[in-house]
Amino acid sequence: MYTYESSKSAFERAQKSIPAGVNSPVRAFKNVGGTPIFLEKAKGAYLYDVDGNKYIDFVGSWGPMILGHAYEPVIEAVQKKAAFSTSFGAPTVLETEIAELIKSMVPDIDLIRMVNSGTEACMSAILLARGYTGRNKFIKFDGCYHGHADMFLVNAGSGVATLNIQQVPGVTAGTSNDTLIAPYNDLEAVRQLFKQNPNEIAAIIVEPVAGNMGCVLPKEGFLEGLRKICDEENALLIFDEVMTGFRQAKGGAQERYLIRADITTFGKVIGAGLPVGAFAGRHEIMSHIAPLGNVYQAGTLSGNPLAMVAGYTLLKELNEHPEYYEQLNEKAVYLKEGILRVFGERNVPVQVNQKQSMMSLFFNSEPVVDFATSAKSDQTTFSKFFHALLKRGIYLPASQYECWFLSNALTYEDLDKTILAMAESLDEIL
Ligand SMILES: *Cc1c(COP(=O)(O)O)cnc(C)c1O
Repeated sequence: MYTYESSKSAFERAQKSIPAGVNSPVRAFKNVGGTPIFLEKAKGAYLYDVDGNKYIDFVGSWGPMILGHAYEPVIEAVQKKAAFSTSFGAPTVLETEIAELIKSMVPDIDLIRMVNSGTEACMSAILLARGYTGRNKFIKFDGCYHGHADMFLVNAGSGVATLNIQQVPGVTAGTSNDTLIAPYNDLEAVRQLFKQNPNEIAAIIVEPVAGNMGCVLPKEGFLEGLRKICDEENALLIFDEVMTGFRQAKGGAQERYLIRADITTFGKVIGAGLPVGAFAGRHEIMSHIAPLGNVYQAGTLSGNPLAMVAGYTLLKELNEHPEYYEQLNEKAVYLKEGILRVFGERNVPVQVNQKQSMMSLFFNSEPVVDFATSAKSDQTTFSKFFHALLKRGIYLPASQYECWFLSNALTYEDLDKTILAMAESLDEIL
């Protein structure tokens, strides 16, 4: 490992060998400006950069670190497993154990297939839905992100929205014509799409709590409405639980909202910070996957032993400690109330959307319920706020379009420090 004097010199060096110096776009700080901090290590709720600064972390590696960084049982399990070889490309008992554990945690799963990222999980889910229904089109929502597969790069949220990319070069017209878009929380728009494309729509894919246009909650009846429409139209309902899985509840958003999806995708928490994704569903649907059926999907490193043991260890902890979800929710509500207080005292309009340990803040005077309302937020003020907080040792996602992920390693003292830093930051920038 190299030690750098500063993030600045590390960033300059990185840009000579890596596009924009980063391996995923939002890390480059393009939206907020300035130099990304280069990290050296993390423990619990704290990050340490190469410059020697410490930060309270609200990114949590974009989700996986629900119990904090370098969680000891996970680190120990990975270290032990590594000595037995890092990959076989052949079955292991551990893969069955994690599959059984997930089936015991999440409703309505008979079969689950492991992949290496959320992107792979979602593209495989669409392929499966198409193979199962014999239809080509699918509906996604404006501002929802399902990974970087071609078919999803139409009105995608996350980095695509952050960088304001209107049309992604390289996505063919044929591909984007099969991707139908509706505004989030708009059932009428979904009904219209089914009317305009009779018997052509294989599936609806949705983030049951959206986190890629900032955190946006489903309106009451929205998810139920999608379920009903899918049943009426013989289409599949895909819940993209890459963010919400094992985070909204041990059974994900499906448990929290009591809605049954036909296919569920996972990522983030499922791998405890190692590269893992998965897609799952009832036997009737999943039996179309090769080699049971002809829908082809494969992966050299899928079910990798290090990734599986990391995920298994974290999921088991979550399964055995339902109180962690209550604790996480209480911390998130405490932070939300603190934010509303300091913004309120200063008469700064703000929207805070929160559901369990997912939340985000918008410099916006109207409720944020979809991409259009999210996009009306004041990005310039957010950038200033972001840097004022970073300077004070608070690490937020570098875009208003990204959700914050709280970890249970956060203490109330950390939250008080964060709220105070927010008050000082507002006083500095306004
Ligand atoms: C992060 C994310 C993905 C993509 O997962 P990767 O592991 O980054 O490929 C897909 N869907 C949702 C909802 C996500 O938040």
